[in-house]
Amino acid sequence: MAETKIRWLAHSAFQIITEQGKIIYIDPWIENPLSPLKLDEVKEAAMVLVTHDHFDHVGQAVEIVKKTGALLVANVETARRLKGEFQIPDENVCYFGYGMNIGGNLLYEGITVIMTQAFHSSETGAPCGYIIKLEDGTTIYHAGDTGIFDSMKTFGELYGIDVAMLPVGSVFTMDALQAARASKMISPRLVIPMHYKTFPILLQDGKAFVDMAAREAPGLEVAVMNPGEEIVFKK
Ligand SMILES: [Zn+2]
Repeated sequence: MAETKIRWLAHSAFQIITEQGKIIYIDPWIENPLSPLKLDEVKEAAMVLVTHDHFDHVGQAVEIVKKTGALLVANVETARRLKGEFQIPDENVCYFGYGMNIGGNLLYEGITVIMTQAFHSSETGAPCGYIIKLEDGTTIYHAGDTGIFDSMKTFGELYGIDVAMLPVGSVFTMDALQAARASKMISPRLVIPMHYKTFPILLQDGKAFVDMAAREAPGLEVAVMNPGEEIVFKK
């Protein structure tokens, strides 16, 4: 049975360790006030995925790429900005330094990453989400910062999503009700709420989402994680 370790670093930051031991970071703002992981402790990474250029998502992506030699995955304009500002070599940015765009996919070390749309704002290029198909077929959808949209249903149908990471905090993203309906549309085996609690103006706990999910998507498994907690997902 394939096992994937998923660690929530609070906000939208996740560390994924694949069955084969590859480490992926998504939106690694690991210096957020709730994250127990510190940059010094990050020694190894295969890929770093950034959904858009806001500080709470780029976080320490550049530092992690530079210290581990990981591949940075970002949209074309964000990739260009980060490359230019921080002198990241082309070979450490997806597609030979170009970055990618919505609908495109990337195969890297046996892992497929598909860039999806997200409805939000960004100073460089369009914000996005990612569908990540690991070596063993385990499929994870990280929605980025977004409101709800109907294509989430199509993502579920096309890719057979096992784990969905959805923002629930409101103000800048979906609230609990929209995220609960999104869960129903995506129909994953497990949903992990994210993008809450970190700022005082956001929803402060996962309870509202659990309640809404019970109503909108009865039977759906929800993992409300503590910052730094790791779960093992078995495919
Ligand atoms: Zn955000």
